[in-house]
Amino acid sequence: MFAEVIVEIKASNTDRLYTYKVPEGMDLEVGMRVLVPFKNRLVEGYVVSLTDKPSYSLEKIKSVYKILDKYPIFNEKMIKLAKWMRDYYKCYFSEVFQTIMPAGIDRGEKKVKLVRLKIEDVFEEDFKKAPRQYEVLRYLKKRSPIKLSELVKILNTDYGTIRALEKKGYIEVYEEEISRFQVRDVEKTFPPILTEEQKRAVEEVKKSIFSGQPDAYLLFGVTGSGKTEVYLKLIEETVKIGKSAIVLVPEIALTPQTIERFVSRFGNRVAVIHSGLSPGERFDEWRKVKNKEVDVVVGVRSAVFAPFDNLGLIIIDEEHEATYKQSDTRPRYNAKEVAEKRCEIEKAVLVMASATPSLETYYKAIKGDYKLLKLTRRIKASMPEIEVVNMSDELAKGNNSIFSRKLFSYIKENLKKGEQTILFLNRRGYSSFVACRDCGYVPKCPNCDISLTYHFEDKKLVCHYCGYEEPMRETCPKCGSKRIRYMGIGTERVEMDIKKFFPEARVLRMDVDTTRRKGSHEKIFYEFKNGKADILIGTQMISKGFDIPNVTLVGVILADITLNLPDFRSSERTFQLLTQVAGRAGRGEKPGRVVIQTYEDNHYSILTAKEQDYVKFFREEIKYREIFKYPPFAHLMNIVVSGEDEEKVKNASANTYLACQKVINKLQVKSYNKILGPAPAPISKINNRYRWQVIVKSEEREVLEEIAEYVQNMKYPKDIRVAVDIDPLNI
Ligand code: ADP
Ligand code: ZN
Ligand code: ZN
Repeated sequence: MFAEVIVEIKASNTDRLYTYKVPEGMDLEVGMRVLVPFKNRLVEGYVVSLTDKPSYSLEKIKSVYKILDKYPIFNEKMIKLAKWMRDYYKCYFSEVFQTIMPAGIDRGEKKVKLVRLKIEDVFEEDFKKAPRQYEVLRYLKKRSPIKLSELVKILNTDYGTIRALEKKGYIEVYEEEISRFQVRDVEKTFPPILTEEQKRAVEEVKKSIFSGQPDAYLLFGVTGSGKTEVYLKLIEETVKIGKSAIVLVPEIALTPQTIERFVSRFGNRVAVIHSGLSPGERFDEWRKVKNKEVDVVVGVRSAVFAPFDNLGLIIIDEEHEATYKQSDTRPRYNAKEVAEKRCEIEKAVLVMASATPSLETYYKAIKGDYKLLKLTRRIKASMPEIEVVNMSDELAKGNNSIFSRKLFSYIKENLKKGEQTILFLNRRGYSSFVACRDCGYVPKCPNCDISLTYHFEDKKLVCHYCGYEEPMRETCPKCGSKRIRYMGIGTERVEMDIKKFFPEARVLRMDVDTTRRKGSHEKIFYEFKNGKADILIGTQMISKGFDIPNVTLVGVILADITLNLPDFRSSERTFQLLTQVAGRAGRGEKPGRVVIQTYEDNHYSILTAKEQDYVKFFREEIKYREIFKYPPFAHLMNIVVSGEDEEKVKNASANTYLACQKVINKLQVKSYNKILGPAPAPISKINNRYRWQVIVKSEEREVLEEIAEYVQNMKYPKDIRVAVDIDPLNI
């Protein structure tokens, strides 16, 4: 028997497999982690396949030295998935394995030392000369076993005393594996009686789960229509037949409240994977799956790789969210596509869900590629009333504050009634820039070429990519005017104004600044939920999972911020954001109100968001996509060329453009395709590296794959780096 092994995946990027002999009696399985001799050293490798036909001459083949774990890290299906990812995203096998593998696997299990009393009959007179030893035994009679460290701390004793007792045989010190991460205990809840709409959706999917002929579904349900209850029911059904389920949620939606809903239903049979976990914690969660201690994994993008052997169901909540795409490192995969492939391989059912499906998904659903399920009504409350305020009108009427008169009066009313308000500002820092009112000069980061953000607290200008900072300027360096000042709005500014106008209001802020420390997101959430504040000001962190009945007002400070992003999806993003945010209002008995402030109150994103009419939005937006040949009518690929020397970068991107042309000519592509650029990337400089990009559009993804392959194997000057992203989500 021979093993095809991929070695040293952390050290190098490779597809290459090496052949090793499997020694007599070694129980080697595909997917196992092994030590193998390689270039006169022993290195770590993964067994990709087993064969009885070696690929080269027998005498040169060395033997596998050792198996590293008790079980295979990957099963055959995962290896199949890995191969698909390699081909689909045009990357190396080693990169895919690194992505699928649990972080922290080399850290191993965490063990804790425990102390246990072995002899019950302990007499004080035996310990006349060792009163400290007696004290330990007396304590253990009340509480045993106990963590060694805890015992030492409580009794203020020392390890010498413990060792002495161990030697005499009174106690035993032993090790036990523990899990680094524990979900918080929550009271068990029972499923509600489902509504007719929910029942219909559940029955439909259930049929598919039982049939062994898995389908893919889009569950299109307005916010608060009970989608999560549908997931819970489907998981219950899946677990009942001995299978397991993965629930993907976007990072920002993985709130304590979301986790609680799953834990309250399935208890400790749930593992949670989020980006705040340490590698060790991640490994522990991964092991819970491996050891069959859980049936359900709730987690972010990487949870799609949870190593279940009996997967029955994958649910993708908020399927339109861009966080499902890994865009900064290879493989630049989309967890949604990977989930679809994994379901196909494992014969599992896929359910994608959203109140605002991505254009691509909805388009596929109406074409019949996915089955469409609908939930049209909110369970507990009616949809909130949405009002749009034109901010130019406000200015013309002499109101130059960041609050329209309407929003202002509603906040005031809410405070009086003791109801809660959420004020939403899309992305901190994005519009909190400084500008000269006379000449238009905007201070930018010398390294990154993006506007610097003004920080009130320390009167500083800060770059949000590289951290560069400088003091706020008194005069404009270009024209000398003193009218250089802060424009636009950050969450800090909103907080300041609220405090100015409503000094009695209790205010919380949730943004990257206030949630940097572990657990602070959770803390702010519970403070607000428990009524410790009247107003919560936040960025898009506040969206899904904020189900707080006393929130009756949501104010969107400036919708234009997302509307003007340099991205062809800006209209879609705006519609999605407004809908999600509006969905936070009026979740309880009391009706909700939403005020959207904007300078573009005639834009269809705003109008359809006001009417809460996704289908109408879809019909408008799809027209533009078709005219300009954007997804779903074509695939895009973004090739970013970067380097320290701008001339070299420009040259290299020009060569990239030509290379794309060459591949397209060679393939004699008949369908629509277009190469754009080269142009400076939206962020034209990061950390002193210039960035230029070439964008390719094509109706056939295969064309893009060919180009990707070609460009990635091209010879570029030494310092130049090329990053290829097929089907990018932010461009
Ligand atoms: P979504 O995920 O679509 O936003 P949820 O599943 O969170 O909706 O449901 C909204 C609220 O309605 C939640 O508080 C949930 O507990 C409740 N709910 C959902 N389905 C039912 C039902 N069939 N009966 C009673 N309450 C329900
Ligand atoms: Zn100026
Ligand atoms: Zn910078």
